[in-house]
Amino acid sequence: PEVPPLLEVNNIEVVYSDVILVLRGLSLKVPKGEIVALLGANGAGKSTTLKAISGLLKTEDGEVTRGDVTFAGERINGIDPHLIVRRGIFQVMEGRRIVSDMTALENLRLGAFTRRDREVGDDIERVYGYFPRLKERTGLAGYLSGGEQQMLAIGRALMARPKLILMDEPSMGLSPLLVQEVFGIIRKINQDLGVTILLVEQNARMALSVASYGYVMEQGKVVLDGTAAELADNEDVKEFYLGGH
Ligand code: ATP
Repeated sequence: PEVPPLLEVNNIEVVYSDVILVLRGLSLKVPKGEIVALLGANGAGKSTTLKAISGLLKTEDGEVTRGDVTFAGERINGIDPHLIVRRGIFQVMEGRRIVSDMTALENLRLGAFTRRDREVGDDIERVYGYFPRLKERTGLAGYLSGGEQQMLAIGRALMARPKLILMDEPSMGLSPLLVQEVFGIIRKINQDLGVTILLVEQNARMALSVASYGYVMEQGKVVLDGTAAELADNEDVKEFYLGGH
């Protein structure tokens, strides 16, 4: 029998402020242990899709008005974001949203807010293993470079020991070298820890290099999906998202 996906989004419609219809029947699946890419132009509704899953939509006056979000076999639409974190979903927001007037270490501890176990200290060391630079930075997180802030945001997500990480534009604002580095770490986290990742990216080339499967969104719907290899080879994807090469 077929294994049900860890995350299934089925035909959702999302409305902001009761009027603005942004998602119009969006469906996607994320199998356990995989990296799935969600691609599409600015304003297609990628961030909204992640927020519909994490529950953060509520904080922006948005609502899922139709369809279902199912995680580990249970329907989670309408649940408060902090309870969704407890179920094992952690969103790394676009623009990083670290707490700038706390240190990197304090930010990492914040990521573990749902946990009561005593292994938090070990996990901080493990995050430093992925991001050694964070250990050296003892000042306020607001003074970290863009790349370091992105690393801290990913490290903070790991501290929650999530089953699923929703990543919004990890390449944003980073130099090409840092993009390579951050994507290398994303791949490693997925392989070492078995964390499932749904990845929103403008940088389709990088996203498809780490993902096993991908979806392309336009105007609030999926218009194309396939394995990462199929998408990388698709003429429309090449023309619109891979710069024609
Ligand atoms: P980007 O990469 O630019 O963030 P995206 O594909 O992630 O694009 P969304 O951010 O999900 O797209 O936005 C989709 C549409 O929803 C846009 O037209 C945007 O203006 C609108 N939108 C997003 N957030 C809100 C909000 N809080 N209230 C009203 N409209 C919103």
